[in-house]
Amino acid sequence: MRGRAQPLSTPAILTATALLAACADGDAGSSATDTEGTTSSAATTSTSTSTSTSTSAGTQGPTEASSSGDSTSSSSGATTGDATTGGETSGATTGGADRCDPDASPIDVDPCGPASCWSTLTFSAICGPTALTEDFGSGAYNVHHFTLALRAGVPSRITFTRTGGDFAPALIIRDTMGNTLFDGETGACSDALEVDVLATGVDGDAAIVELSATADLGLDLYLTGWHVVDGGFAPAMPTDAAYAFEIDNQCEPATGASDPPNFDEGDVEGGFHVLPDADPPGLYTHKDPDCSRGTRRMIQVLTTVAARWHAIRPEFAPLAFLDLNEAWCSNVDHATHDDGTHADLKAGCATNVDCANWIPALDLARLFIDTGEVCGILFNDAKVQGAVNPYFEAAHDYEPWKQVFMRTVDGHVAHFHVRVKKPDGTCN
Ligand SMILES: [Zn+2]
Repeated sequence: MRGRAQPLSTPAILTATALLAACADGDAGSSATDTEGTTSSAATTSTSTSTSTSTSAGTQGPTEASSSGDSTSSSSGATTGDATTGGETSGATTGGADRCDPDASPIDVDPCGPASCWSTLTFSAICGPTALTEDFGSGAYNVHHFTLALRAGVPSRITFTRTGGDFAPALIIRDTMGNTLFDGETGACSDALEVDVLATGVDGDAAIVELSATADLGLDLYLTGWHVVDGGFAPAMPTDAAYAFEIDNQCEPATGASDPPNFDEGDVEGGFHVLPDADPPGLYTHKDPDCSRGTRRMIQVLTTVAARWHAIRPEFAPLAFLDLNEAWCSNVDHATHDDGTHADLKAGCATNVDCANWIPALDLARLFIDTGEVCGILFNDAKVQGAVNPYFEAAHDYEPWKQVFMRTVDGHVAHFHVRVKKPDGTCN
């Protein structure tokens, strides 16, 4: 529809990108102030996380019916069977819903060379969908650049859907070495990495791919319009351009919480268990043992989440546990922290409201929710709250601490205050 030719007949892109080898795609944070589309994100996230967390709560919930449903069907009539299960029967090659083709190879594309890239959000290998809405309203950027840590053996479906403005969504994927894995139309296809193209966005409102790799892989994702790609990344995006974006890592979240391997049931002070040193070392840090005491459930939740966090967000690990109970080693005067069910903790940008990259905070809260043992978190970031609270509500039926799982209380801007269930299993 946009006169987009086959990949090999677009030498303009080749030339343009070859000349501009240096891509500023280093990492999040190069332009941290673009908080576009803040308000609407909560709504979208709530719909998609509710589908997701029915999965995470029940152990056997079906993963298929993910929220990419409508965009998939509208964009490509060709993918009748779901590409998730990898039916190799798809003889249909209309539209752009091809399966991985070993004979095809993507052309090299380097969007952030010529383009003005907004590079802020980073996505992890956390199980289940993570959804958001964004827009190009600031007019300052024509490409949005995200990173994704793809996990070996876990297929990940990426869906980029136009929701406003006149543009055809184009998605480009490279690895951290700068190799193009998906040029918008053609994906890499090897024993190590398979890119299944479900929709290119050329003729529809969504670009959808599913990736699976045999080794962990760091990816750079670029979201823009086809007119920007075809124009060598020089053209602007319309300022009314808006989109929904989802990454669905197709694995089941781990649930529950258990004793750490070095748990000593007899290590009790003043009626509370003392948090042991991390085992293995490096999963978390803690203060003096006199400020590190809590209920057994508290110890289980903190050590379990620390281990899962280290696995999905090594860049923000280890978790730093601050006060559990209040004692001489406390440097703040706590109103709570007196019954072994409260803990303060930090994880760099994941627990700081000043970080424009809000996805890590959502990830960390999800890990606490997945245990099923946590009553609430105090953290004063409305955007994070807007995604976290629907996730909790979809996952659990119990009443959270003071009715809202994540809420604002003065002072909680650079740490999470986590409360676990009381010994009787309730929150209030
Ligand atoms: Zn606290």
